[in-house]
Amino acid sequence: MITKVFSNDGALAKAIPGFQPRQPQTDMAVAVHQAIEDSGQLVVEAGTGTGKTYAYLAPALLSGKKTIVSTGSKNLQEQLFHRDLPLMTETLGYTGQVALLKGRANYLCPERLSQQLIESHDGHADPTLLSQLVKIRSWSSETKTGDLGECDALAEDSPVIPSITSTNDNCLGKECPSYEDCFVVKARTRAMDADVVVVNHHLFLADLAIKETGFGELIPEAEVFIFDEAHQIPDIASQYFGQSLSSRQLQELAKDINIAYRTELRDTKQLEKVADRLYGAAADLRIVLGEPGFRGNWRDMVGSPAIARELVRLTDALELVEEVLKLSLGRCQLLDAAFERAMVFKARLARLCDTTIPGYSYWYECSKLHFTLNITPLSVAEKFREQIQIQQGAWIFTSATLAVEEDFSHFSHRLGLEPAKQFTLPSPFDYSSQALLCVPRFLPEPNSPGLANALVDILSPVIEQNQGRCFFLCTSHQMVRNLTAGFRETLSLPVLAQGETSKQKLLAEFLELGNACWWQRVLFGKVLMLEGRH
Ligand code: SF4
Repeated sequence: MITKVFSNDGALAKAIPGFQPRQPQTDMAVAVHQAIEDSGQLVVEAGTGTGKTYAYLAPALLSGKKTIVSTGSKNLQEQLFHRDLPLMTETLGYTGQVALLKGRANYLCPERLSQQLIESHDGHADPTLLSQLVKIRSWSSETKTGDLGECDALAEDSPVIPSITSTNDNCLGKECPSYEDCFVVKARTRAMDADVVVVNHHLFLADLAIKETGFGELIPEAEVFIFDEAHQIPDIASQYFGQSLSSRQLQELAKDINIAYRTELRDTKQLEKVADRLYGAAADLRIVLGEPGFRGNWRDMVGSPAIARELVRLTDALELVEEVLKLSLGRCQLLDAAFERAMVFKARLARLCDTTIPGYSYWYECSKLHFTLNITPLSVAEKFREQIQIQQGAWIFTSATLAVEEDFSHFSHRLGLEPAKQFTLPSPFDYSSQALLCVPRFLPEPNSPGLANALVDILSPVIEQNQGRCFFLCTSHQMVRNLTAGFRETLSLPVLAQGETSKQKLLAEFLELGNACWWQRVLFGKVLMLEGRH
């Protein structure tokens, strides 16, 4: 049955113009089908262009089993949900329910939006912020999902987003007055009821970490788990099986206490005082931690007298918050939730300061204004294996890069896997004749003022020759802005840039225009990629 789907006259050939059967793709689909039948573990390294997405989607859909597909990023998640999955469900005549579930930071929080609107009417609000909030409120009455990625009025990296989305820390849960309208709750309910749920690794691993503590679950129980871009899982798992505390979290807590004081508890002046003290203690610890952009060994720092002194002040500030908030419990939901957070943060800070427990890396990092203290387990293999044993079913891991010279032991060992089958499928692309790598010489130093102009001069003729159709990745927003301005002056082609509208609108425009260039910021490395439309 499964080989038929991928054959010359199979369902895919009938549905996709130009589809050609590829033996590696069929081999992978057969292996995925077998792993699902046996409820086994499978690891497949599938080179770029193998068609691995269809190779796992088809057997998963045909199995009729409840399936979770986890991808490496939100972008891949959207691509899978909006493009690949609809094509496969239609092609295979699949009638089950499918759902997309992202992390809570992607959904509008109606409660925080209304708090922000109340706050911004005090006459001091920035007019740009106010106008954004008004646009979001009007969008919120039309949207079905509350997914901010669909709000064209809001740029992907808009600074307003943290104030209108929730975190685990500040969500009021079932006590929330807006619970009935909550988009996070609705998205989770849809996911619970669906037969196929598309998530990303961060969300999946956050869910595993929550299950470990015995609290609520975000992701429904399933029988088939498929991880695309699986090479990212060990590192992401380390983050979620560890613990961290940031000055941002502490200051957000202080802000919420202040909001509760200003909006509902004007008679309790002490709240303002303890909030200010907490805010200041977090800021002072940031100052003694030194230069921004630094990551260091927390075990080395925690014994320094200046840091130890600030840690005592921070612990005292949290204790005082706890004492004062306790007196007003039951009077304001925001404050009740803040009280719970203060207790969690105090316990976490104590755990972070006890650096004697082996098996963990203790580290910290500083940005200009904030610090984060972290404990990361040195191995997640045991915890991950436990979860696989608890959650019986098929566990399938795939990516273009998993093996080292066809040896999967490093990857499997890091996650505690014991796959029944593992193999590599080579990429069908002939890179040496289909791709060209150019490394320009004599460019100004990174971050130097002339770099953007030099790149514009070198690349404009190449881009014109390629008739646009370019995707350009930069390492900073500033570079995106500089290059966008430079290319708009020199090119006769449309130029799209991250941050000017929502990502989905950008993507739709890029595909519709056919000859556009797209400038996007990335976090890792500097890459120039010219690609045809496909
Ligand atoms: S339940 Fe949480 S996320 Fe939902 S509206 Fe309330 S505060 Fe926001």
